[in-house]
Amino acid sequence: MLVVEDESDVRARIRGELERRYGSDYRVTCEGSALSALAKLERWRASAEPVALVLVDQWMPDLTGEEFLARAKALFPEAKRGLLVSFGAWGDRRTADAMLRAMAAGRMDYYVLKPWRRADEFFHRTVTEFLHEWERSSSASPQEVALICERRSPRAHQLRDLLTRNGVPHVVHDTDSPEGRRLLAEAGHAGTSEPVVVLLGGGVLVNPTNADLADAYGVSTTLEGRSKFDLVVVGAGPAGLAAAVYASSEGLDTLVVERESIGGQAGSSSLIRNYLGFARGVSGSDLAQRAYQQAWIFGARFLHAREVTALRPGGGRHVLTLSDGSEASARAVVVATGISYRRLGIPGIDALLGTSVFYGASVSEARAYAGQEVYVVGGGNSAGQAAIHLSRYAGRVTLVVRRDSLVETMSSYLVDEIAAAGNIEVRPNAELAACSGDGVLETITLRDRVSGQTEAVPAAAVFIQIGAEPYTAWLPPEIRRDAWGYLLTGRDLSAESWPLERPPLMLETSVPGVFAAGDAREGSTKRVASAVGEGSVVIEQVHQLLDSGEAASSAPSRNASRASVGSR
Ligand SMILES: Cc1cc2nc3c(=O)[nH]c(=O)nc-3n(C[C@H](O)[C@H](O)[C@H](O)COP(=O)(O)OP(=O)(O)OC[C@H]3O[C@@H](n4cnc5c(N)ncnc54)[C@H](O)[C@@H]3O)c2cc1C
Repeated sequence: MLVVEDESDVRARIRGELERRYGSDYRVTCEGSALSALAKLERWRASAEPVALVLVDQWMPDLTGEEFLARAKALFPEAKRGLLVSFGAWGDRRTADAMLRAMAAGRMDYYVLKPWRRADEFFHRTVTEFLHEWERSSSASPQEVALICERRSPRAHQLRDLLTRNGVPHVVHDTDSPEGRRLLAEAGHAGTSEPVVVLLGGGVLVNPTNADLADAYGVSTTLEGRSKFDLVVVGAGPAGLAAAVYASSEGLDTLVVERESIGGQAGSSSLIRNYLGFARGVSGSDLAQRAYQQAWIFGARFLHAREVTALRPGGGRHVLTLSDGSEASARAVVVATGISYRRLGIPGIDALLGTSVFYGASVSEARAYAGQEVYVVGGGNSAGQAAIHLSRYAGRVTLVVRRDSLVETMSSYLVDEIAAAGNIEVRPNAELAACSGDGVLETITLRDRVSGQTEAVPAAAVFIQIGAEPYTAWLPPEIRRDAWGYLLTGRDLSAESWPLERPPLMLETSVPGVFAAGDAREGSTKRVASAVGEGSVVIEQVHQLLDSGEAASSAPSRNASRASVGSR
């Protein structure tokens, strides 16, 4: 831990707090001068010593805290960076402006109030949260799972992505690195080119399926003899997780089925900054894990690494077929299957998928491109977040945008952060026309949409974020969709597509008792907060349906007076 503070009494107080609380696990270094602290950081970088935390005062004689943190970020992108401020600093306009600038430019993770007394728990809460986040993301700390793989193999990429998005603390070693060779030999698989997973608690898996990995990690992948539920939620993105929390907390016997990763798209976001209540942002996988644990502790059952492949609507009970052939039935179903990335049909791309061309943000890949030249295709918020996350590691990131600017398609806080990053270039009026390389990407061809001219440029990796389409093709035709596959609900259903006399509930699809929530629903706002909102609102409507007796009744009734279904 490095602290930079020029006032000696304040420095002594911070040193005392940190050494007493963390001294047996971390080395605490306190400096009075920013320049000598910077020299130390450079030495530690040269000797590959890990740095977990950098705390710096904003107003110092030789360098501002903001400038210092920008340099610290370049040297130690994984270290948590806090700007030290005194209580009430937000009343001082100059300091407040410095904080907002540093935050907007991604130079600091958050501000830290200087401790003003012994055992200042407010100070320690911020420090402990920083250390927890650092420990989860750091390549330096030991992890629960080790993945030994050839980095550029598509299956290795899928496994890394799965572990990252499900919030499993893990470390990745190349098959031919010294540590990789040692672990493979210990596991009895020396010389293999297949991905091998070694679990800290014991257990070795060679090229496991997603379900094998989930089983080995101790989470449930089969129905284990149960098949009847009050409610089945399909998909555990923000909408499905919110539905699970509200349903299980209100006494509904709830099963949640997730085919890939808890958290859905949100789980692939490195930092969600606009979700209510998380002032300094929250990683998508952290948010998802919190929601998952919340639903689990209320009693929701989860099936991991299982896809729902079909739904048979039935009188009172709907039957869902799972990818292992088993069936579950429920009186109500919430379809919260979200959307998947739209694909680009350009020459050369398919052969390189998962090796160096990726759909989505691929938070798990960023570190592998340290110092290299990478491209992000897309002009929306997810492309912006991917570019910012990659810029922490890559030498240069180019954002390839079809429009002439980002202003219309990206939130302004991201546009500002991109402008401040220093190593992100925006290439407007451009599109990806081809990819080429022998096994891994070497060159991409970009087309200028105004002049039509093409240019081939070297690239180590391309991350594509060009929008998405809903996961609804598996549903039966009675469940009506729009021309793009989004689920129609409530008022959007035509009279011919709705079979009952009562009107459909607001989030009900054309099959009574089957509801839709989140990004898969036509007209939904594609944001975490709105998906969470719909996931909670939909449970109120499930209760209305179950309480009315329209669906075969055995579930606990939350409110007997809510007996008639029909409000839109
Ligand atoms: C990189 C990225 C960054 C983003 N950043 C932000 C942000 O900063 N702020 C913000 O508000 N929004 C952000 N978004 C958008 C936000 O993540 C989505 O709006 C939100 O996740 C939608 O939630 P959902 O539950 O409707 O769907 P999803 O998140 O798409 O989840 C659907 C889930 O259903 C599962 N599933 C699909 N079909 C099946 C099936 N047949 N059986 C079982 N499971 C199935 C999928 O595997 C998936 O896990 C971001 C999106 C991306 C991709």
